[in-house]
Formats: sequence, structure tokens, C-alpha cells
Amino acid sequence: MARILVTNSEGRPGVGRTAQMLAQGAGGLDAIEAGIREVEADTTIRTVGRGGWPNLLGEVELDAAMIDGNTFRGGAVGALKGYLHPISIARAVMEQLPHEMLVGEGAARFAHEIGAETTNNLIPDSERVWREWFEDKVPAAARENWPDVPLAGLCQQAIDPEKGMDTTVFLSLDGRQEIMAGVSTSGWAWKYPGRLGDSPIIGAGCYADTRFGAAACTGTGEMAIRAGTSRAIVLYMKMGLSLQAAVDEAIDDLRQLKGGLIQRITLHAIDRNGDHRVVAVNAEEQLTYWLWREGDDAPQAEPTEIVTL
Ligand code: ASP
Repeated sequence: MARILVTNSEGRPGVGRTAQMLAQGAGGLDAIEAGIREVEADTTIRTVGRGGWPNLLGEVELDAAMIDGNTFRGGAVGALKGYLHPISIARAVMEQLPHEMLVGEGAARFAHEIGAETTNNLIPDSERVWREWFEDKVPAAARENWPDVPLAGLCQQAIDPEKGMDTTVFLSLDGRQEIMAGVSTSGWAWKYPGRLGDSPIIGAGCYADTRFGAAACTGTGEMAIRAGTSRAIVLYMKMGLSLQAAVDEAIDDLRQLKGGLIQRITLHAIDRNGDHRVVAVNAEEQLTYWLWREGDDAPQAEPTEIVTL
């Protein structure tokens, strides 16, 4: 079976590196981590790593996760501040701790302990856009007492400054026929501090099982958490559904969600035959993703399928 890599459009800075490493025989975790590190460091990707959008308080909180489809060991960090490569810290959680996920201060403490590289993830342009929002949308009385004010109302009207830009997700079937997944994000822009989306939650934002396939989500993480979407896609494949039908079933699950934040969400999946499917649910515009298959000279950008709930 041929090797395959699927990543979304935000994977652009890293897709070439991951594809090259897979072509040369690297394992999926190494290739995915290396590719995601490039995305995290690239400030033109405004939804991942350095350059990502901040929370309501103007602080960048990053989430990332990896899963090993052979062992089901996961490693995740959530609401991590001040570090350049959350994906590598997530991998270290997987490899060095008896835990699967660390958040906030504990994640930062562990990052410090392993000597992870620090940085200021809030770039001047993100600070400018956040400040414009602050001046324009936050009532004067709240601005005076900032940040000791209730944030819940502001969170309700939070907007995504860059619609259509997402978490980066990488799914691979490597030369050993092992299936791995990794994701990294700055999460929903203007989120309530401490909010975790689907990305650091193994089974929601990503899942992998070498016997069947892998899946990952971008967009409205609240939806993927509620429907356990990535785990569901892989489980549907285990229950005998084709990749196509497994993704349809997960979309049907999303259709059942009532109330809460229902917006757009994109599902990415691969199976162990080297097939793949990427579906943008409720997309407002045409999205693309990157596909590399063994034998391809370079990754190709492909249009996503669009489904409306
Ligand atoms: N899924 C991410 C989250 O909910 C955001 C995104 O991909 O746009 O945090």
C-alpha cells in the first residue's frame, strides 16, 4: 500500500518537509512533527503557533496533539502560553509522562522542564487587530476595569477575524504502513481564556488506528467535541464502513447537534488502503487541502468537497 499524507491548506509551510521525510522512509510521528513545527514557526499562518490569534484578553493560548496509531498513546497540550512548538511538547508528554494531556500552567511548567523554546507568540499585527476589536466592541466601563470584568458577554459576540483559516492537521500512512496524526492551533480567535477546542482532545480533534485509518477536524471544535468526530470516523471504519460511508455517518452525527455553537467544520480522513476524503461542512467558501501520495514529485492542492448540514 502506498504512503499518503493529507494536510489542510494551513499545512502549506510544512507539507513539503513531511512528504519528503515520508518519501525517504521516516516514521509518521517524526515526519508530522517536523512539518507542524514549520507551520507553528510561520507567522503568515494566523491560526497556528506564533502569529496565531489571541483570546479575549489578547493572550495567545496554543493547543496541540499527536496520536500514535499503533499504541494509542496520545500527547496533548492545551492553553499553553509562551512556547514556539506546542507539537513537540505534546510529543514529549506522550513519550516522557504517564499522562495524555497537560494544560495551562502545568503544560508550561513541563515545557520549561524539557527545555522547550520560548517565544512571544503575539505578533504586532495580531495585537493591532485585537486592540481594534477591544476599542470598538468593549464598552468604555469595561475597558476602564479591564481585565477584571465579566467576559462571558464578550465571548458570545466573539468573531473570527479570518474566516476559513484553521488549525493545521496532518494525517499519514508511512512506509511501515503505520498511521499517525498530529494537530496544532491557536484555537478560536477571541475565545474565553482557558477554552479548549477539539484539537488537544484525542478522539475529538484527531484520532489514528493503524489497523483502520485516521481522522482530524478543523473549524468549530465545540462540534467535534460533542460528536467525538475523529474517533467516530475511525470507529465507523472498524465497524466495517468504507471511508466514504464512515465520514457520511460522522456528518450525520453532527446534524443531530442541537443548540451551542454550530458553524463550519472540516473533516479529514485517511484509511489503510491509502484512500482519503476531506469534507468541509457548512463551508462559506471553497477550501483546499494538500495531498501527497507515494510517487508524487510534490504535494498537490486539491479542492475540498462541500456539504451543508
Ligand atoms: N478547531 C479549532 C478549535 O476549535 C479551530 C479551527 O480549526 O479553526 O480550536
